[in-house]
Amino acid sequence: MKLVVEQCQRYAKMRAHTATHLLHSELAKIFKTTKQAGSLVDEDYLRFDFNADRLLSPEEIHDIEKNINQIIYDAYVVEVKETSYDDAIKLWAKAFFEDKYGDVVRVVRVFTHDNEIVSIELCGWTHVLNTKDIGCFAIIWQEAVASWVKRITAVVWPKVGLRIHEIQGILDVTVEKLWIKTYTQLADKLDKTLKEYDDMKANLESLETNMIKQILTWSDFSSWKDLDKIFLIPSALNFKNIAFQAKIIFEHQNVLIYTAEWWFILLTKKWISAKEFAAKLGIKWWGTDLMVQGRDESVLWLFK
Ligand SMILES: [Zn+2]
Repeated sequence: MKLVVEQCQRYAKMRAHTATHLLHSELAKIFKTTKQAGSLVDEDYLRFDFNADRLLSPEEIHDIEKNINQIIYDAYVVEVKETSYDDAIKLWAKAFFEDKYGDVVRVVRVFTHDNEIVSIELCGWTHVLNTKDIGCFAIIWQEAVASWVKRITAVVWPKVGLRIHEIQGILDVTVEKLWIKTYTQLADKLDKTLKEYDDMKANLESLETNMIKQILTWSDFSSWKDLDKIFLIPSALNFKNIAFQAKIIFEHQNVLIYTAEWWFILLTKKWISAKEFAAKLGIKWWGTDLMVQGRDESVLWLFK
């Protein structure tokens, strides 16, 4: 039984390894000068690092998957040959073998039924005998591991099925939560929901703006020395919007607006620096000459 398991694991790694070679040659078509920067081969799972200055586009990922699955479908022979390094160079393009190897090398070739080379690499690993044994191939992730190194993670055969199952599960839950019948309605439903969200947000913002205007126009205020108006306002309101409205409403006045949580905005008349005003009051602030804001406990008792 143990032997059977080991054999299965070995085949799973062979499938992933041959797929790695196919991925390498597909990437070389897109990034002409790319070089392998590392790779990890596990059971029906592979990770491939390569030199590139950018990530792949969704179309490129789709094309790579399509091409590799076509190679799998076309059932090309995978040939492993031991030969001298010199013969390997003589027989096949030198460009493939830039690194230095020993005298005897293993050349792994995948070629079409017309003897056209699909992939050729020097490699000591075991491989499947035919590309059809890989079953199928899917890229599940890509990322940048360094500025010049990109990483692709892919799966083959049984793990492609698991992947589909996993995505199907996510789709089923999403479809159910969005109250639609099938995932083909997802894009439409999302557009509609996002539009509703935007409309609602705009409505809320306009309600809030009205509320802020009401508060700043009609609320009771006090005054103190050079400060024409001092407002204590509810903390839950959007402070950025308050600052914006206050600037319009109190154009030629010195105004301090604060909350029970000590947040404050100080606006000044054109010829008075808000920064200097705040410094005189002894409160900590940030901002410009026309308006400063900040959080300082002393605003609570400064004018009492
Ligand atoms: Zn290899």
